[in-house]
Amino acid sequence: MNFVSHLECSLTGARYPAGRLMGLSEAGKPLLVRYDLDRLRRAVSKEALLRRAPEMWRYRELLPMRDAASIVSLGEMMTPLIAAPATARRLGGGELLVKDEGRLPTGSFKARGLAVAVSMAKELGVTRMAMPTAGNAGAALAAYCTRAGIESYVFCPEDAPDITVSEIALLGGRAWRVNGIITELAPILDGGTAALHWFNASTLKEPYRVEGKKTMGIELAEQLGWELPDAIFYPTGGGTGLIGMWKAFAELEALGWIGGKRPRMVAVQSATCAPIVRAFEEGTEFAAPVEGGHTSVPGLRVPATLGDFLILRALRESGGFAIAVDDDEVEPARAALAQSDGIHLCPEGAATLAAYQKALAEGRIGRGDRVVLFNCATGLKYPMPPVTRRLDRHQPIDYTAL
Ligand SMILES: *Cc1c(COP(=O)(O)O)cnc(C)c1O
Repeated sequence: MNFVSHLECSLTGARYPAGRLMGLSEAGKPLLVRYDLDRLRRAVSKEALLRRAPEMWRYRELLPMRDAASIVSLGEMMTPLIAAPATARRLGGGELLVKDEGRLPTGSFKARGLAVAVSMAKELGVTRMAMPTAGNAGAALAAYCTRAGIESYVFCPEDAPDITVSEIALLGGRAWRVNGIITELAPILDGGTAALHWFNASTLKEPYRVEGKKTMGIELAEQLGWELPDAIFYPTGGGTGLIGMWKAFAELEALGWIGGKRPRMVAVQSATCAPIVRAFEEGTEFAAPVEGGHTSVPGLRVPATLGDFLILRALRESGGFAIAVDDDEVEPARAALAQSDGIHLCPEGAATLAAYQKALAEGRIGRGDRVVLFNCATGLKYPMPPVTRRLDRHQPIDYTAL
């Protein structure tokens, strides 16, 4: 039940055979998996999917594994699409939905990408994998590698959150903190690849994480009755998810599972680390790396990505845009949604809400638009405001003042 036809360089279109271990294309760009969609259309219907278990592997014909036995799974459930009516009303917007990816194994949507990447690595005989990561990708790599009997080496920049670095080590990954920012860690990966034959699982340096993240787009379509929303706000670091969803929509349309309507894709970044926003506004095909690029939002600390031109293409083809939010808008947005709709976003998810609010106020998003925000991780992994109020049970209590 495999429908992969070949791998393709995302820039030049050069073709490579499927079924062997690959990193980047000869042009140094990401490889994308291509499928024989005509054959796939005849083999499976979207109605048939509904009878399958509610997990990402229900889309297995649109995934690259040759053998179902290769699947490395920790319970990748379909994530809920939760309405936020109180916030929509408060902001004067249309229907507002949160795709809560924090329910996945290791508490983030990195699980989707790494579940597929590690499954493929296992199928292709890999024994050691490595990556640089701000945290969540490393936790997912460690978990799936441990599950698959593959060694994992994970390198975290100095400012990676303690909780995710500890999570990586707890899950059996060899976790290291390194003095530098994420883009400065690449030479360590090259060194280990030469010395210990690590398979490099860095963002977009192997073809299969995108395929895992693609399931967010298929799942979203299915959950909305195969009718895509008007806009998707996506917190963009490396951009794997945005690229993956855009690829999913093209495949779904080619299969005849959806019509021609596509959502406007909106890339959300932090004002202090916004290479995609700058490139979008300047109209360039590629994005120049941002110098320094610190932000308090860990998932957005990505000053340069190999997928820059693919993200920019998706934004432009969809009639979407890139938008930056200030770091100090993020926590208020997180608290606002938590306290009006009971939904706990991670800071990256909260950045999409701040961006939505801004885009709505500026008229870039219509007041009747149905919008999906991606909450990419559980808010519980991130610091929350401390509570300082104390009650002395030995003193009389003024209940009306509580
Ligand atoms: C990785 C990550 C992102 C960015 O995702 P990309 O698909 O790489 O752009 C956003 N938020 C969180 C919580 C992440 O872990």
